[in-house]
Amino acid sequence: MKNKMNLLRDLQEVDQEISSIEATRQSYREELDAFAADATRVQEMLDQLHDEVAMLQQAEAELQQGLLKERDNVSRVEARLPEIQTQKEYVAVLKEIDVAKKTNKDVEDQMQLKQQEVASLEEDIQEKEAELAAIHEKSAARGTELKQLLAESEEILIKRTQTRESVAAELPVSLLRKYHTLFKRRGGLALAQAHDGACLGCHMQLPPQQFNQLLQVKKLQTCPHCNRILYVELDT
Ligand SMILES: [Zn+2]
Repeated sequence: MKNKMNLLRDLQEVDQEISSIEATRQSYREELDAFAADATRVQEMLDQLHDEVAMLQQAEAELQQGLLKERDNVSRVEARLPEIQTQKEYVAVLKEIDVAKKTNKDVEDQMQLKQQEVASLEEDIQEKEAELAAIHEKSAARGTELKQLLAESEEILIKRTQTRESVAAELPVSLLRKYHTLFKRRGGLALAQAHDGACLGCHMQLPPQQFNQLLQVKKLQTCPHCNRILYVELDT
């Protein structure tokens, strides 16, 4: 029984180390994913800004086309002025020209507004491009580090897994199964030390008789409260 308990304690130690290595590896992977997610987020903003600029530029081009056409009309009407015979018609045509020029002025103002919007969006684009470049730069540097750390920790993980397999091979299957279940259900602590008559896994008092039996280390004892496998440090 003493030997089995020592093997179980070795097993728990290496299993705890494996869990901690796996948690660390998970955090490395999450950090890598976060860089990718950041880059995607900024890239999506950039795509949207480019779309907005394209729409504004198209609207401006349409306004420009209309304006050129309207200016042509004005020139044509103006060219007709010397041929006009009556005062009434002359006044009417002048009014027509005046209205057309005012409309053109409005269109020019609208075009200017679009140009200002485009200029402002282009500033945003530059800002986002700088942000994206910074993310890429940071993720390139840290990404190399993280991949190195992942490779190193994988090697250690393989070694620890080999150790755990060789320790596990020496234990009876039924005991291993019990241990595994407890390890999972009890947050990586399947074995708990009994000390001063209490289980240090759940900090509840053990029946005095059980504690005495534990000291003799004859058969496997579990805590009646948390079910963990109990062991005693005989020299403490
Ligand atoms: Zn307990």
